[in-house]
Amino acid sequence: MGRIFALLLLPLLLFGGSVKPFKWNDGESFLTFLERKKLPLRIYYNLDKEDQKLTEDIPYNANCQMVVDNKKFIRQILIPVNDELQLQIYLTPKRRYEIKVIPIVSQEYTETLYLPIKTLPYDDIVKMTGSKNLASVFVKMFKGKVDFRKGFRVGDPIVIVYTQKYRLGKPFSMPEVHGAVVEINGKKVTVYRHADGRFYDAKGAQYEKFLFRIPIRNPRITSGFTKSRYHPVLHRYRAHLGVDFGARPGTPILSTGDGRISFAGYSRGYGNTMKIRHSNGLTSLYAHQKSFRSGIHSGSSVKQGEVIGYVGNTGLSSGPHLHFGMYSGSSAINPMSVMKKTTEGFSGKERRVFIAIRDKMDAKFRKAFSNKPIRKPYFDFHETYYVDSETFKPKPF
Ligand SMILES: [Zn+2]
Repeated sequence: MGRIFALLLLPLLLFGGSVKPFKWNDGESFLTFLERKKLPLRIYYNLDKEDQKLTEDIPYNANCQMVVDNKKFIRQILIPVNDELQLQIYLTPKRRYEIKVIPIVSQEYTETLYLPIKTLPYDDIVKMTGSKNLASVFVKMFKGKVDFRKGFRVGDPIVIVYTQKYRLGKPFSMPEVHGAVVEINGKKVTVYRHADGRFYDAKGAQYEKFLFRIPIRNPRITSGFTKSRYHPVLHRYRAHLGVDFGARPGTPILSTGDGRISFAGYSRGYGNTMKIRHSNGLTSLYAHQKSFRSGIHSGSSVKQGEVIGYVGNTGLSSGPHLHFGMYSGSSAINPMSVMKKTTEGFSGKERRVFIAIRDKMDAKFRKAFSNKPIRKPYFDFHETYYVDSETFKPKPF
């Protein structure tokens, strides 16, 4: 990972600079950030509309980095907007600040974790992998199926097959869990991720009952969700952290689920925007609204399907539509992955796809149970880097 870091930072570190990691402040706008760092606001206004909107999606607590040279000039700032793209503010040789959207370079590993439980699965997984996200996903997968506080014996094994991204040597972003199994008193409980990104049991019954509905009647998707897409004509990276529904101005917008309005106001990029916090920890967002339904404001409780506002064209929008987002914490997820399914169970081709995934996973589980591979516990080294004066390469402390 040091190598990737080097590619981005080495030319700067040769000036004798230092790397300062920092977290993105909760609720801080990009413009306020620029003002606070005494950087020209032109940086923001030079971004095109889509990228300006992207700045409103910087997750709070995002791990950012700043490189300052020995004359205290900011040479570079890297701000991740999701787990694939980041904003790079940099000082050119002509001493002008510029900004670009660039990919985040990370490495991905798929691993089968075999773990006999010592205390509680959550704690044991964190200790072994360094990933709280993996531990949370695991616990969520078995919620309602297995009570890890009862009926669990020390030494009962769990197996998780997952893909994790690493950046700067640390687990980074949400892991993708392909399947998991727990064995309690000799009885196995399994969960599989299907091609649709949802979890199912061995019979193909859905584990989580998603209660969300599409927020508009007669939906017509005009732009889908993507964390990173390279635009071949514009020669740049693009992200669209929501789903756009084309609709006439004034079309009613419906709440995707029961919840409480956590924000109803105006932002430069998203225009009239409403956010609803739901009981399962997800937050939905409805942007570019013409107006909110009267009587609805921050703090109001809403029911699924209730009209909350009307489709419009406010903010940086190029035509009337609803931009619909879904967030887990402050990270954008694909809203379509949590919409209610109209049918239960699989049939036809989808059933064959599921069975293939399940059988492949079962083979991995069997292999893990017979080999019992024990992983080395994760070692969390310091994230700060220094430049080795002999090789001029950044190295972790
Ligand atoms: Zn959109």
